[in-house]
Amino acid sequence: MSRLLRHSWLVIFLFALGCLAVYAQAQRSIQPGPDRKSGESEGPFERLVIRGATMIDGAGAPPIGPVDIVVENNRIKEIRSVGYPKVAIREANRPAKGVKEIDASGMYVLPGLVDCHGHIGGVAQGTPAEYVYKLWMAHGVTTVRDPGSGNGVDWTLRERERSAKNEIVAPRIYVYVRPGMGWDKGQIITPELAREYVRWAKQKGADGFKVIGGDSIYDPEILSALLDEAKKLQMGSTTHMAQTGVVRTNVIQAARMGMGSMEHWYGLPESLFADRVVQDFPLDYNYNDESHRFGQAGRLWKQAAPPGSKKWNEIMDELIKLNFTIDPTFTIYEASRDLMRAMRAEWHDRYTLPSLWKFYQPSRQAHGSYWFNWTTQDEIEWKNNYRLWMAFVNEFKNRGGRVTTGSDSGFIYKTYGFEYIRELELLQEAGFHPLEVIRSATFNGAELLAQQQGRPMEFGVIRPGKLADLIIVPENPIANLKVLYGTGAIRLNDQTNQVERVGGVKWTIKDGIVYDAKKLLADVERMVETARKKTTEAGSGGH
Ligand SMILES: [Zn+2]
Repeated sequence: MSRLLRHSWLVIFLFALGCLAVYAQAQRSIQPGPDRKSGESEGPFERLVIRGATMIDGAGAPPIGPVDIVVENNRIKEIRSVGYPKVAIREANRPAKGVKEIDASGMYVLPGLVDCHGHIGGVAQGTPAEYVYKLWMAHGVTTVRDPGSGNGVDWTLRERERSAKNEIVAPRIYVYVRPGMGWDKGQIITPELAREYVRWAKQKGADGFKVIGGDSIYDPEILSALLDEAKKLQMGSTTHMAQTGVVRTNVIQAARMGMGSMEHWYGLPESLFADRVVQDFPLDYNYNDESHRFGQAGRLWKQAAPPGSKKWNEIMDELIKLNFTIDPTFTIYEASRDLMRAMRAEWHDRYTLPSLWKFYQPSRQAHGSYWFNWTTQDEIEWKNNYRLWMAFVNEFKNRGGRVTTGSDSGFIYKTYGFEYIRELELLQEAGFHPLEVIRSATFNGAELLAQQQGRPMEFGVIRPGKLADLIIVPENPIANLKVLYGTGAIRLNDQTNQVERVGGVKWTIKDGIVYDAKKLLADVERMVETARKKTTEAGSGGH
């Protein structure tokens, strides 16, 4: 047990983010989602009508309402504009009654959200799938891409199928496996093995690959074979680069080989180096000292070609021409620029499992986290790092590049669901209009996944014929993204002069099935309470 635990910490340590700890546990998996129980949801319905909502379509169109939306079984059938704001609706103009009616007057309806970087928990975090799924669904996340699929290829494929059949309460799942996992031929150390693995994964049913920089897979001849084969078989690809591999293959080089998207940001500043080949590492730098590694990462963007320079423009243009996608996951590094904010986020009190909380804690011995010597200057460097990174991502979007939304929750004080919403806020901070944020979180994610599989888009936009993945929010998320948090947003009531909590998603609809988002959140709260009691009892029992 302790050996396994130490091994998992070591892996986190090696790959810059804890998100990769899952690799170490390829042989072990968390508890899968329990069967969906009656009372947890309603529908799908032969005819469901959502009445009087203001619609945000996901593609970037401005809000429009009131509209009535008709859903038949799991598909959107009709969207009808039925009047004008603050004017009574003429009943004669409305679609016929459904077997189920939702009164959404005064509320907002959006497409279900897509988390392009959603790990389904982990053994080290002690998170049963139900906990993770319900936090996502309670925050309107109806689709996730599981990068690395750390609970194992078979486990994740099984959960994908169960979710597709709605046997469990869970978002749609896209399985992006880590090359080499799941088969018995070991590490991929030749181009031939890379091709063979891709064919193996295709036959298994995987949707794509998450390739980790620093592995031998990242040597250019092996990586290009993998990507070439993946393209032939219409499988997706994304990458998390590491400082140990980025000198041989950076983002622009990987994109030229056919890499479809990138996670985080590593490899991007290196693509923009104009006056160096290797990052300006201090002379006593040791990659295995986490305060070195993360501290220096925060000083990396300023070593790249500056905004507006020739190199900056050339690389950006080429990435856009290659139809490359950036999935920045701003939120997962937030503790680097503001440790206390991430550590003390208010949702931890009620919604972070004790095992997950324990997993977040820094420990030099465990090599799991880099907070053991984090300084004011480190935070300042990271704030500046973010400014350049955000400038790149915002400009990339403005020039036509696709930016998606991913949270990478389950690491570094980032709890599922809540931190997906935080990612939306950070996209706005980067310069996105809130409608561009929603587009990134819905349409863009869906488009990326569809394109990488060579399939038409089935969700991510509110249109007749698309799957009925929708969320309904009582407040206007364009005016304040905070209303999407399960804990809501703070607002002073003008009548009572009392402070209130408003918002939180009210209903999450996936495949025409209606979930009460507040109830899902209450389930999670109960799970946390129960786990806390157990932990306390175990604690008082003595070790
Ligand atoms: Zn990750």
